[in-house]
Amino acid sequence: DNPQPRKPNWIRVKAPTGKGYTDTRNIMREHKLVTVCEEAGCPNVGECWSQGHATMMIMGEVCTRACTFCNIATGKPPEDLDVFEPGRVADAVAKLGLNHVVVTSVDRDDVEDGGAEHFAMTIRAIRKRSPKTTIEILTPDFIRCAPEALEVVVAAKPDVFNHNLETVPGLYPEVRPGARYFHSLRLLQRVKEIDPSIFTKSGIMVGLGEDKQAVVQVMEDMRAADIDFLTIGQYLQPTPKHHAVDRFVTPEEFAGYEKAAYNKGFLMVSATPLTRSSYHAGDDFARLRDA
Ligand code: SF4
Ligand code: SF4
Repeated sequence: DNPQPRKPNWIRVKAPTGKGYTDTRNIMREHKLVTVCEEAGCPNVGECWSQGHATMMIMGEVCTRACTFCNIATGKPPEDLDVFEPGRVADAVAKLGLNHVVVTSVDRDDVEDGGAEHFAMTIRAIRKRSPKTTIEILTPDFIRCAPEALEVVVAAKPDVFNHNLETVPGLYPEVRPGARYFHSLRLLQRVKEIDPSIFTKSGIMVGLGEDKQAVVQVMEDMRAADIDFLTIGQYLQPTPKHHAVDRFVTPEEFAGYEKAAYNKGFLMVSATPLTRSSYHAGDDFARLRDA
């Protein structure tokens, strides 16, 4: 057995309570929507939901990949894509009155276009119902798809195109099997090439066993691929079966990463122990847009 390091006091999480939290939960249930907040056991769910921020997960609850840090069920998805889902997402966004929505998905390597058209339909449905809401998508890597798959998603014009690199390249075989570091980087670079008006975003978790030099190299690779926004957060082990926490990165080290990232030219950086890919995404984006 691999004894896990004790959680330090800076990883403190408030239990989810309050009216905003229950309202968000009810709207999600009513529209039969899945949130990554719940599925991934995100530590910020109390805070985010009480403020009406949520990350919706489309294309089902079963993922065709099996990343070792991730708490989403893996296997063969039991159902085809639900053509009514984009409409339900759009309804929920309107009901929640979101200024900014994050839409993500499981990986669907069983679907020919990886779900590209489904993402595009979801973006268009939200735009139609809530034209003022800014839309951030957090997508799979479309690694088994024709290059046109990405073009379909980009043509739907999300405001922010996010795809997480998750970790340093040296840890890919054990942390992100099935994915390729340079493929993911190139995906984001292509988004910018196709439509430079879309902001690109990526993130990694730390505390998985990476060293600092490798993290700095990832930042450089991201900037070389023209990535605009960066998130860095502490990896937390969802269950004892998942990848072990190597260590807890201190708040001072996170502050160091943030500073280094801004020096490298990222437009927006969030690097704190509880940073998640979608944490405060809307507030940050509004600040940038209004600046
Ligand atoms: Fe949901 Fe993201 Fe907030 Fe976590 S940080 S609760 S995943 S919106
Ligand atoms: Fe989880 Fe995404 Fe990996 Fe699927 S591809 S196992 S949803 S991190």
